[in-house]
Amino acid sequence: MNPYTVNRLSVVIPVYNEEDSLPELLLRTRAACEQLPCSFEIILVDDGSRDRSPELLREAAADPGSPVVAVILNRNYGQHAAVMAGFEQCTGDLVITLDADLQNPPEEIPGLVNVACEGYDVVGTVRQRRQDSALRRLPSRLINLAALRSTGVAMTDYGCMLRAYRRVVVDAMLKCHEHSTFIPILANSFARYTCEIPVSHAAREHGESKYGFMKLINLMFDLITTMSTAPLRLLSLFGAGMALTGFAFGVLLLVLRLANGPEWAAQGVFVLFAVLFIFTGAQFVGLGLLGEYLGRVYHDVRAHPRFFVEQIVRSPAAAMPSSVSSPDIRLQ
Ligand code: UDP
Ligand code: MG
Repeated sequence: MNPYTVNRLSVVIPVYNEEDSLPELLLRTRAACEQLPCSFEIILVDDGSRDRSPELLREAAADPGSPVVAVILNRNYGQHAAVMAGFEQCTGDLVITLDADLQNPPEEIPGLVNVACEGYDVVGTVRQRRQDSALRRLPSRLINLAALRSTGVAMTDYGCMLRAYRRVVVDAMLKCHEHSTFIPILANSFARYTCEIPVSHAAREHGESKYGFMKLINLMFDLITTMSTAPLRLLSLFGAGMALTGFAFGVLLLVLRLANGPEWAAQGVFVLFAVLFIFTGAQFVGLGLLGEYLGRVYHDVRAHPRFFVEQIVRSPAAAMPSSVSSPDIRLQ
């Protein structure tokens, strides 16, 4: 039997002012999940909407036998926090996230489940012919590039939230308590086998993107800090570069002064520049060092699980209580 078979699927969808999309979203998501041989639940997290979305969700969840679970947050906390709130409630052994605006077609869900069954911890997606404006695409491109550089995980489209995560990865993410997070990157830091599949992408039919300029900037910073504290180290490198340039400049001035005589030196103005460079550079080195300490404190405060044990197998003779003989998944 395939150990990666999915017995229960959870679909987690963050919702922020999406009343116009919700009826169609519910119908299409449910129809897509019903094609699968496993049981499923659809968890919709209302992220403090100001329209009728929470009422629609409550109604959908109240129907007898409905697979819908409505999680209503008391205010707007942002898309990734809302998805985390959904993760807390989900019971499936595979969890799929998608957007509520129908830009990610729910019909792609069975395809994602099938690929996950091949043994992947995270299944990412690449949007084919992405249907967003060029202005909206540019920050995403920068984000993808930065993510690729610092995580080294070969994924091309971090911005697409239509993704599948295995239970162990979701549990690991739930152990991370930082406020600002970027789920696709966080998930990759706990995944062993990842892959990407192409999915279609539709234009937004109702309402407009909930990401204004400031929210995108915010997201960018969340993403950078989720990945690493490398920007703090850049301060030191920049400072060291500057101080060395100042020093080299000073030596050059001294040589020229010796070669060309005192009238060449313009009353020491250039020497001042050299000294200024050296001291400013040294200040940046100091700042960078402070940053190194701060970075370590930040890592400890985030208290990510140091490692996670996927399975413990003991020989039956050595096994003490009966509970340890079955495959055991634990987080430390
Ligand atoms: N969203 C949310 N909280 C927010 C902003 C967005 O839950 O503060 C949800 C939104 O309802 C949608 C998803 O996150 O389901 C993606 O948002 P949007 O489509 O506006 O982003 P874009 O497609 O422009 O990246
Ligand atoms: Mg969208």
